[in-house]
Amino acid sequence: MMKAAFKKGWTNRKRCVATKRNGQPCRRLAMTKYGLKVCGAHGGYAAAVRMGLRNPSRKYLLYGAYYRALRQGKVDRR
Ligand SMILES: [Zn+2]
Repeated sequence: MMKAAFKKGWTNRKRCVATKRNGQPCRRLAMTKYGLKVCGAHGGYAAAVRMGLRNPSRKYLLYGAYYRALRQGKVDRR
């Protein structure tokens, strides 16, 4: 078997520096192609959108209303 030139797994990759809500590091793959040190879930997508790298889908309009309803306890989340 040939030895791989790189280490297996996530070595040599930038990982998300954000901390999850349970206190553990996120450690997802950071969005390095946008020059970010966080993953998409921790502000990466928002930052990419701000830089005009992604096209907003306008889904936030839907989700905004949905989460507002959630906060008011109108939707039974399960
Ligand atoms: Zn993250």
